[in-house]
Amino acid sequence: MAVPKRKTSPSRAGMRRSHEALPREAHNDCSNCGELKRPHHVCGHCGHYDGREVVQAGKALKGAVRI
Ligand SMILES: [Zn+2]
Repeated sequence: MAVPKRKTSPSRAGMRRSHEALPREAHNDCSNCGELKRPHHVCGHCGHYDGREVVQAGKALKGAVRI
């Protein structure tokens, strides 16, 4: 079995982990109810998009991600 020749230093471990941070997901306030929603997506809370109701409020939206 291949074995590392040297112990990974804390500095090197930190350099490796500098790429592990998760990006912040984009979000907007819904213009109808103020709930957080994904941009360019139907609001999962009130079912509104572009100022009109496109999905009945309270109904489970297929594939919708609630934030
Ligand atoms: Zn809404």
